[in-house]
Amino acid sequence: MDSTTTEPAEQSLATVLAEIHADLLNERSGEVANYIPELARVDPDSFGIGVVAVDGRSLAVGDAELPFTIQSASKPFVYGMAVEEHSRDGVLAKIGVQPVEEAFNAIALDEATNRPFNPMINAGAIAATDLLGGDTAEDRLARLLAVFERGCGHPVEVDEQVFASERATGERDRALAHLMRSFGMISDRLEETLELYFRQCSIKVTCRDLAVLGATLANQGVNPITRQRMLSASTVRDVLSVMHACGMYNFSGEWDLRIGIPAKSGVGGGIVGAIPGLGGIATFSPRLDASLR
Ligand code: GLN
Repeated sequence: MDSTTTEPAEQSLATVLAEIHADLLNERSGEVANYIPELARVDPDSFGIGVVAVDGRSLAVGDAELPFTIQSASKPFVYGMAVEEHSRDGVLAKIGVQPVEEAFNAIALDEATNRPFNPMINAGAIAATDLLGGDTAEDRLARLLAVFERGCGHPVEVDEQVFASERATGERDRALAHLMRSFGMISDRLEETLELYFRQCSIKVTCRDLAVLGATLANQGVNPITRQRMLSASTVRDVLSVMHACGMYNFSGEWDLRIGIPAKSGVGGGIVGAIPGLGGIATFSPRLDASLR
């Protein structure tokens, strides 16, 4: 456990975090995602919690420095990038914001509009990635990584093994992209967009990084440690709204009832949450409930 200050309030938060971590350490329910073979290589018992306040103070407990792939926890941020580039209405023309009952990788579009239901499920996330501009694949990737770099406060890189594993097995994502293409909902650089999406999911982060990203959302788009802006305040408002409604897939309603903060899960085991005006919180635990894997 490490604590960056010794103020009494933080000491008590540190104590509470340590207690929560100890209480849940032996919780063994859930399963590691294995539909992307490389993800199954993770230590299922890893468990970390990170908290970062909007004033930049931070706390972490357990495996908060262990790298894992961001997976779907990248989706809110890429949705934000698409909104910055194309405006709320520009993106709404291509991607809905409606929660759904189906699994995150369901092969389904809104029949009335041909749009993916929301940007937190794979179809909508691929459509958001498709909206990211750039002349070449390298250019688009560099721009995407630069935004995550501003959010995390340091350069980020792609886990090439996880990326290769996703690319080799991502037939459902490929099917979704082709379905959307058939309706003209994504561009014809479909293969390039899929590669970019798989790389975006394979960005390596730690629990502490995710907490900083959450704190950046909580702080209206400005990383509270480096003071660098990742996304505009109005974009963050939209991002938090879709996280709130759809971030935990078909568990979002119950999550809201029980936990009550906008959050996004990833099949790598990370969850990022934001408490606007207060800070970000992240957990890393690769054993996933059925609705998240
Ligand atoms: N890369 C994963 C996929 O496309 C992301 C899914 C997730 O984290 N829920 O299936």
